[in-house]
This record gives sequence, C-alpha cells and structure tokens, in this order.
Amino acid sequence: MSTRRDFLRVAGGMTAGTTLLGTMGTALAADAGAPVAEGGGGAVTEHKLPELPYAYDALEPHIDAKTMELHHDKHHAAYVKGLNEAEAALAKARAANDFAAIQTLSKKAAFHGAGHALHSLFWKVMAPAGKGGGGEPAGDLADRIKRDFGSFAAFKGQFSAAAAAVEGNGWALLTYRAEDDRLLVLQAENHQKLSPWDAVPVLALDVWEHAYYLKYQNKRVDYVEAWWNLVDWSQVQKNVAGLQRLRV
Ligand code: MN
Repeated sequence: MSTRRDFLRVAGGMTAGTTLLGTMGTALAADAGAPVAEGGGGAVTEHKLPELPYAYDALEPHIDAKTMELHHDKHHAAYVKGLNEAEAALAKARAANDFAAIQTLSKKAAFHGAGHALHSLFWKVMAPAGKGGGGEPAGDLADRIKRDFGSFAAFKGQFSAAAAAVEGNGWALLTYRAEDDRLLVLQAENHQKLSPWDAVPVLALDVWEHAYYLKYQNKRVDYVEAWWNLVDWSQVQKNVAGLQRLRV
C-alpha cells in the first residue's frame, strides 16, 4: 500500500540521483547543450568545456600558467570529448537494442564523465591567492569542519595525507554525505574509483601528474602544500549549502 511516507522516500531518492550528477558544479548543467534526440536511442546531451573563471596565470606562483592551459584546454577538453563519444555510442546501442558493448561503453562514460565533473569542480573551488583563495573557512563550514574532523588543522592534515597517498593518478576529495549530514575526506583513483556513491564532492584536488609535474616534478607534497593557498572556501560553503536539499 502506498503511503505518503513511501512517496517521500521515492521522491527523495530521485532527487538524490539526479542531483549527484548536477551538484558538483552548477556549471556542468549550465554548460551542457540542449538534449539531442538521436535515432530512437533517447536524448543525448552535448557536454561542453566550461571556461576557466580566471586567467591561466591567475593562480601563479602556486600553479603555473602553462600547466593551467594544458590542463584545461587539453586534458579537461579530452574528458568532455570522451564523455560525448561514450554517451552517443550508448544511445546508438540502445536504439539498435545492441548491448554487447555496454560494459566497455559504461566504463568509458564513467571515466570521462567523472573526469569532466571533477575538473569542473576543481576550477570552481580555486581562486587567486589572497583574492578569494586561501585562508580558512568561516561560518557554517568552519563549524562543520570542527565538528566532523576535530579542528581545521586536523582536517587539513587528513586531506593532505589523502592527496599524498593516492596510488597513481587520482584525487583527494572533501565530500558531503546527506545520510548523516556530515563531511568526509575521500580519495578517488583515476576519476571514478573508490566512490561510495552517496558522498558528493564539494572540494576536489587533482593529484594526477598532469596537474603539477611541469612545476613540481615528483614533489606532489609540495604541490599539495601550495594548493591550500588557492582554496576558495566561500565556494565550498556554497557547495555544501546546495546539498542540504538531499537531506530527507
Ligand atoms: Mn586533471
């Protein structure tokens, strides 16, 4: 028997599902083109590369201009292209009722889609040092960090250790989990592995070698230390606030 409570549960689940894709940057939704129907396989979105919210050299000296240019214009662009190709191929397979390639295509869509989402978030949560970037969080975010990690210093230590310890290419993430309304530090290998699904990234640090190698070579720890000067805590606070609607 259907009850209002059941309905709310279902509605809440649907909200969470749709929001996971959209929350990591409203930029993602804003930059995506209109869905295109194609060959009876369902709608296909044309994802677009979001523009950087600052100049290539705006994050100097902590992240150099050449790294930013290559990272955004080449690496992120390749994830957008890969995602569009994977989703178009999936739509084509659906239209043909041909699911033999679904494993390969799903992997491709997950890798490139997560890469697109995390890079879009990464650009947004940074700002030039001293002009929106760096310092410490205030208000609600500061309170949450103290509650969930003990102190800002303890959080920073845990996040930096997560970044340093990512095996191979990946990310350190601060995530929000609606179930218990708390913040968690997680790692991602590549862009999509190790995800518990219900924790949504609100702050992301790219530790793929392409993110730092030109300036820092093998010294990932130095890059991580410098990166703290660029974190835009007001944006992180906005990301957390935007996820409050996932609470049911
Ligand atoms: Mn990257």
